[in-house]
Amino acid sequence: EALDRIQALEPKLHSFLTVTAQQALDQARAVDAKIAAGEEIGILAGIPIGIKDNMCTKGIRTTCGSKILENFVPPYESTVTQKLANAGAVTVGKTNLDEFAMGSSTENSAYQVTANPWDLSRVPGGSSGGSAAAVAAEECVVSLGSDTGGSIRQPASFCGVVGMKPTYGLVSRYGLVAYASSLDQIGPFARTVEDAAILLSAIAGYDPQDSTSLKVEIPDYTANLIPDLKGKKLKIGVIKETFGEGLDPEVEASVNQAIAQLESLGAEIHYISCPRFRYGVPSYYIIAPSEASANLARYDGVKYGLRSKDADNLLSMYTRTRSTGFGAEVKRRIMIGTYALSAGYYDAYYLKAQKVRTLIKEDFEKAFQQVDVLVCPTAPTTAFQAGEKITDPLSMYLNDLMTIPVNLAGLPGISVPCGFDSKGLPIGLQLIGKVLREDQLLQVAYAYE
Ligand code: GLN
Repeated sequence: EALDRIQALEPKLHSFLTVTAQQALDQARAVDAKIAAGEEIGILAGIPIGIKDNMCTKGIRTTCGSKILENFVPPYESTVTQKLANAGAVTVGKTNLDEFAMGSSTENSAYQVTANPWDLSRVPGGSSGGSAAAVAAEECVVSLGSDTGGSIRQPASFCGVVGMKPTYGLVSRYGLVAYASSLDQIGPFARTVEDAAILLSAIAGYDPQDSTSLKVEIPDYTANLIPDLKGKKLKIGVIKETFGEGLDPEVEASVNQAIAQLESLGAEIHYISCPRFRYGVPSYYIIAPSEASANLARYDGVKYGLRSKDADNLLSMYTRTRSTGFGAEVKRRIMIGTYALSAGYYDAYYLKAQKVRTLIKEDFEKAFQQVDVLVCPTAPTTAFQAGEKITDPLSMYLNDLMTIPVNLAGLPGISVPCGFDSKGLPIGLQLIGKVLREDQLLQVAYAYE
């Protein structure tokens, strides 16, 4: 069914870069055979899933949305996709993304522009736009995305699905193509909070192959999902700074309605201040490009993918490979990052940004002394038109205003649908939890949903 739906919708939607039909059917038949033989099957047995094309899949092309990795077929499997296979999931394909996960609209993919299933002239958000659109359009049941500054939560909000970024270190990054390593985290897309909880339970956990992986016990995230919050004395804090200038009034109205609903479900609502929240975007756009410029140095035409043929020495081979292989946004980030890390500028930019990052973290720590969960809009607007922001990087960057601080602090965040605007476009509510309190975060999201 998922493959039929993909075949019917892809000519308009373009969520997938690679459809792995044969492999999916083989995996599904293997599950059938296990059932017939009375063997135990995994928690995700037979569930069709889409994987963002920046997670390595052994023997299956992994492009990262970039020409530089056009023919890259990984010789190894990422930890998350291995865990999915162990749980019996059926991978239907690799989903479209902004090149190297840099972007908020999926328009930076070197291959295709994914459409928003609610309005094909609009973007699905990004960078995990393919994964969000595929779940929203029921091309698969759930999918995986990666979130460095909002790339799961913002597309979830634009496509009307649930999207979660776990605590930094909860899910292994082994086999995830690195963008900004201190911020990158893999997480689930689903149509319900319960499905997201099931998928998170399947992918979370310590991995010795990722040095930032946390050694913690993974609870069953579905265990405490109940329809209300009564008797829990749960305190929810509304982040005051996320309201006001720049916030679409229809988004504001929906989010306020959601806050009232959380109160009627039994939560105590507090209005709290995170004064340094607004420095998230400027510090992120120093830190993320700096890490990216270092991570992307490995694409030199020698080890992976593309190699320019018309070069007569090593240096021109590097230059030509990188000039033709990377798109405009990736080059912009590499230049910003290289500049910020240069001798003489390092203290003024990179070090300063790291200090601001600490202050943002402190704001959250203070907030979490007063409340259990924070709430705000996921994005300041609903899905925008394709082409609208692509020539204005700054306005594109500002779309991640509400999601970026969560990555800088390493916290878990989830976007859940909270209504529609007058054009019929979905709106997302962002809930932010304490470190490693995914259980509590999912509980609130589930009760709300
Ligand atoms: N839009 C942000 C960026 O371009 C975040 C991307 C992400 O989370 N991968 O960097």
